[in-house]
Amino acid sequence: MSNLATDPRETECGAEAVDGPVAERYAGVEVALGGPRAMTVRRTLPNRTRRMVGAWCFLDHYGPEDVAAASGSAGMRVPPHPHTGLQTVSWLVEGEVLHRDCLGSLQTIVPGAMNLMTAGHGISHSEESPEDRSPTLHGVQLWVALPGEHRGVAPAFEHHVDLPVLRDGGAATTVFLGELGGARSPATAYSPIVGAEIVLDAGGAARLPLRPDWEHAVLVLDGSDVTVDGELLERGPLLYLGTGRTELPLAAGGPVRVLLLGGEPFAERIVMWWNFVGRDHDEVAAARTEWNAGDARFGEVHGYAGDRLPAPTLPSVRLRSRGRRA
Ligand code: MN
Repeated sequence: MSNLATDPRETECGAEAVDGPVAERYAGVEVALGGPRAMTVRRTLPNRTRRMVGAWCFLDHYGPEDVAAASGSAGMRVPPHPHTGLQTVSWLVEGEVLHRDCLGSLQTIVPGAMNLMTAGHGISHSEESPEDRSPTLHGVQLWVALPGEHRGVAPAFEHHVDLPVLRDGGAATTVFLGELGGARSPATAYSPIVGAEIVLDAGGAARLPLRPDWEHAVLVLDGSDVTVDGELLERGPLLYLGTGRTELPLAAGGPVRVLLLGGEPFAERIVMWWNFVGRDHDEVAAARTEWNAGDARFGEVHGYAGDRLPAPTLPSVRLRSRGRRA
């Protein structure tokens, strides 16, 4: 996924005091991914108040979208674009997405599998709904900021189909990144983090163990409502839970699918602009110039039927690094 806005707003993150256990709802904004018959996504990270949850710095939820070849939208059509200083995580509820990158990766992702792309020093990729596809597309696109010491690592791509599942009562929890309750994803993580999907049966309840020194947030992906430590949550907003919690009590009305994000509060201030995460204006500006000049830093994506995406113009003021919350 790319930030396709033509005038993306600057977003910065960094160190502030943690808040303890809270329950804050963030509705996010609807963003058109651009192009004819393109999809709309609901972006709940970054938002006006919370820019990060742990190292998670971007959350787009899209669908369920009718992408049937005969009647539906064009689905996902994200032309080749660059990234730096982050990892992208693709997780689907329904459908398929075809990923291509400048390392030569060509990978279709389906529900239950996870695509992890580490941009590090620089990478480029495209994402599209394959021609031969299911009629519905539904999923999330996430970014993870790399800590300073690892933000220049060599680019890499991983596809994981064998992910650990925790079972508790009526809940099955797939840990796709990081660690939860002793279950550890095989995917490469660079900071203390968790990304997991919790599936609850109708009437099901669970108490998932949380680390009190981490911050967490949940989002309903699909299905009915769920009660999260007494807070009734439906599809739409991100529920930010703060730090200081040792467990996550969940109770489902009907069958429900929930995304859990968490991690150690990110201590560094970062600059996030367009598809780049850096530490200062000059770093991001250099990445932008190099991408638009076709520099070898970002390689070349082969096989995408369309042009690459040019980086938009930088704002007239210097980008400033900011903290993890406003
Ligand atoms: Mn992308």
